[in-house]
Amino acid sequence: MVMRSYQTVPKQQKYTAKQFDMEFPSEDACLEYVMQRRWPNGLALCVRCKAERKHYRVTGRTAYACMGCGNHIFPLAGTIFHKSSTPLRTWFYVIRLMTSTRVGVSAKHIQRETGVTYKCAWRMMKQVRLLMADRIGLQGPVEMDEAYFDARKTDAKATVFGIVERGGRVIARVVPDAKQSTILPIVGEVLPPKTMIYTDDHATYDGLRWMGQSHKHAVVNHSKGYVDGYAHTNTVDGFWSLVKRGIKGVYYQVGMEYLQSYLNEYTFRYNRRKVMYPMFRLLAERTTTQVCPCAREAKLLAKPE
Ligand SMILES: [Zn+2]
Repeated sequence: MVMRSYQTVPKQQKYTAKQFDMEFPSEDACLEYVMQRRWPNGLALCVRCKAERKHYRVTGRTAYACMGCGNHIFPLAGTIFHKSSTPLRTWFYVIRLMTSTRVGVSAKHIQRETGVTYKCAWRMMKQVRLLMADRIGLQGPVEMDEAYFDARKTDAKATVFGIVERGGRVIARVVPDAKQSTILPIVGEVLPPKTMIYTDDHATYDGLRWMGQSHKHAVVNHSKGYVDGYAHTNTVDGFWSLVKRGIKGVYYQVGMEYLQSYLNEYTFRYNRRKVMYPMFRLLAERTTTQVCPCAREAKLLAKPE
């Protein structure tokens, strides 16, 4: 398998190995990072004291104890790190590797760099991709298009639908088909009324006119073989070719059932290509904010006072 060349990311988005070693030097430092972000200064609601109390680290455990009664809280509960036997520092390192290139890294690369098994590397990446899922609305003008991805070991093709802001962000979803009944609800969810939309002449997009959203729709006729002014779908075409090149080069071919998680990864990076803040930090922060709702602590915190 050939590793794609590393395309460089802008300086302000970079998070170097040196920075990583300074901020995440040890298991303890990683745990403290999670603790600080979830409960700054160790101040957390204690279920037993029924009050906010300062908590301090329990030596040798991934727990912090209430200063008043000694009750333990677990900062990793509900996070992607929960119940993992892989060192926390390896997790953060994997997040750093996954956010350090434009095109992504392979599980093989993670395996080599961290010493975890291939299977473990693959599972960790899957978890990190869960964090990368964006639920956003877009603003016009936009281009929308469907694309077809080859599925591994079968002749079947997966249908993907995408909407891209010109010069902006993107959403991409695996869909069962490109029928109006599938596509139009996504358009309704993602776009505000009266959006300027550019598409090709696929019959599905005829429906944009009678959606009741007063969208403005311009059709690009590819068969005429030219692009006139604003009426083009170059942006969305560019996004598909980026994703297709990436999947071919880095992941070889993706099992159909995992395509959405790969799309999440590409979308996450694409949507932040102009955000001048390290992607590593954005994602590291998400590990502590997108806490699984089944976590006991998360439930407590969600309760209104
Ligand atoms: Zn207490």
